[in-house]
Amino acid sequence: MNPTADGVAAALDRAIRRLRSSLPEDRVLVHPDRLATYQSDGLLHYRIPPGVVVLPDTADEVRLAVRILSEERVPIVARGSGTGLSGGAVPVEGGAVIALSRLRRVLAVDLDSERVVVEPGVTNLEVSRAVAPTHVYPPDPSSQVVCSIGGNVAENSGGAHCFKYGFTTNYVLGLDVVLGDGQEVRLGGEELDRPGYDMVGAFVGSEGTLGVVTRVTLRVVPVPETFRTLVAYFDSTDHAGRAVSDIVAAGVVPGAIEMMDNLAIRACEAATGAGYPLDAGAALVVELDGPHEECEALFGRVTALCEANGATGIRVARDAAERDLIWKARKAAFAAMGRVSADYYVQDGVIPRTSLSEVLARIEELSGEYGLAVANVFHAGDGNLHPLVCYDGAVPGQAEAAAELAGRILAACVDAGGSITGEHGVGLDKRDAMPLMFGEADLDAFQRLRCAFDPDGRVNPGKVMPTPRLCGEVPGPYRRHPLEEAGVAERF
Ligand SMILES: Cc1cc2nc3c(=O)[nH]c(=O)nc-3n(C[C@H](O)[C@H](O)[C@H](O)COP(=O)(O)OP(=O)(O)OC[C@H]3O[C@@H](n4cnc5c(N)ncnc54)[C@H](O)[C@@H]3O)c2cc1C
Repeated sequence: MNPTADGVAAALDRAIRRLRSSLPEDRVLVHPDRLATYQSDGLLHYRIPPGVVVLPDTADEVRLAVRILSEERVPIVARGSGTGLSGGAVPVEGGAVIALSRLRRVLAVDLDSERVVVEPGVTNLEVSRAVAPTHVYPPDPSSQVVCSIGGNVAENSGGAHCFKYGFTTNYVLGLDVVLGDGQEVRLGGEELDRPGYDMVGAFVGSEGTLGVVTRVTLRVVPVPETFRTLVAYFDSTDHAGRAVSDIVAAGVVPGAIEMMDNLAIRACEAATGAGYPLDAGAALVVELDGPHEECEALFGRVTALCEANGATGIRVARDAAERDLIWKARKAAFAAMGRVSADYYVQDGVIPRTSLSEVLARIEELSGEYGLAVANVFHAGDGNLHPLVCYDGAVPGQAEAAAELAGRILAACVDAGGSITGEHGVGLDKRDAMPLMFGEADLDAFQRLRCAFDPDGRVNPGKVMPTPRLCGEVPGPYRRHPLEEAGVAERF
C-alpha cells in the first residue's frame, strides 16, 4: 500500500490538530527550526526532518500521542538523547518523533532488592548516581553522561565493563511499553526469571521497532570492594592483543579490558592530557575489581603477562583521581577524534578475540588502500571493535570513500566469524548488511516477531530489516498480499 503524498500530508495535519487540542501547547513542535534538532542522531550524515515532534511529560501523554498518531496512520520514531550511531532515531519523512527526554524521573530505588525503577529519559549515569555510593548500574556506554536508558534498552547497549558484567539485557527486569496502536503492555516484572516467554529479552535490542518504552525496572549490583587499574603500553596492537588473549586464557576476568592504537592515543591525549605517551603503538587499560585480596593476587599476574608480551611501560592508578583520568581519556575517544581529523565515521563490528591481530592487520591494509587513516578504540575483551575512519568531508569523494572503507571493515569482521554490530545497532545504517549474517528464513522469523508487536508497521519503519515487508506478506517470489486480494491496497 503506498498512500499518496497528499494523503500523507493530510493525515499529518489532522494528527497535529488533534495533538494540539489534547496536549499542553509546549508538547507539540512543528516549526521547521525546532524540528531540525531532531532530523538526525549521532550519525550526522542521515538527515530527515520529521513532520512533528511530540515531547510528552508523562507515560499517559505518550499513550495519548501514540494513539492519535496511530489512528491517523502517521509513523512514529521514539527518541531518547539522540546519541545513537546507527541512524536508529532518524525520523520517517513527514512522520512523528516522540522524544522521551522529559520523562526523566527516578520512580523507585529499592537497594534491599537491588532494583531501581526509572522513566526512559533518565540518563545511564543518573541510574548509577541514584543508587550510589553502595550500588552501581554496570553497563556503561562511553556516552553515559547523556544517553538515555530508553535508548540503552532499544540498542542493548554495552560499555567497558560489560566484559565481566554483561550488557543491558542482563539488567532489565521489566518494561512498560506503548505499542504502535497506543495500547500499553507490561513485559517482565520485578523478578529475574518470570514464567512464560522472555518478552523482555525479545524487546531489549529491538531498536525501537516494537514499541515505545515508558518505564524500566533495572537490576543494580553492589559497588566492588576494590578497583585496581593499570595502563600498559606496547609497540603495537599486535603485542597488546596477545596480552589480552593471555590474560583471558589465564582465567583472569577483568572488570574491563580496553585497547587504543597510536592514532586514538594521540587524539585522546590532545583532548584530555591524561598522560598517555604519544609514541606508544597501543595502550591497554586493564581494570580488576572485586574483593581486595583477589584483586591484589590477580594484579601481579596481569602485570607479568603484559611484561611477557613486551609492554614498554606500565602505569598503575595510585588513587581514584588517577583512575578517573585514565578512564576519561578512554571514554573521550570518539569525541577526541575531532582533534586529529575533520570528520570521522564510527564503525562497530565484532570479531572473535583470537582474530584480533589478523583483523587489525586487514584494517591497516584497507586504510593504506584507501589512503584514509583509521584509529582503533575497542572493548578488547569482547572483541568489539570501533574503527574510526578519518576523512575530510570538504574533499569531494572522501565521505563516500570512508563509508565504503567502513563497509569493507565490516565484511572483514564477518569473514573472521564475527558480527556486523556489537553495540551500536543496525538501524538505518546497517540494514543492508543484515544479509551478510542472516538468511531469508532468519529475517522472516525477525519480521514475524516484529509483526506480532506492530502489525501495522507504524513504529520505526524502515529500520533494521533490509527489505521491509507488510506484515502477513509471504517471503520468496512475489505473491499477492491479502490486502491486495481484497482490493484495499495496490502494488506500485
Ligand atoms: C560519543 C559516543 C560514545 C558512545 N559509546 C557507546 C558505547 O560505549 N556503547 C554503546 O553501546 N553505545 C555507545 N554509543 C551509542 C549510543 O550512545 C547508544 O546506542 C545509546 O544507547 C543511545 O541512547 P539514546 O538515548 O541517545 O538513544 P537514541 O539515539 O535517541 O535512539 C536510539 C534508538 O533507540 C530507540 N529508542 C530511544 N528511546 C526509546 C524508547 N523510550 N522506547 C523505544 N525505543 C527507544 C530509538 O528509536 C532508536 O532506534 C556512543 C555514542 C556516542 C555519540
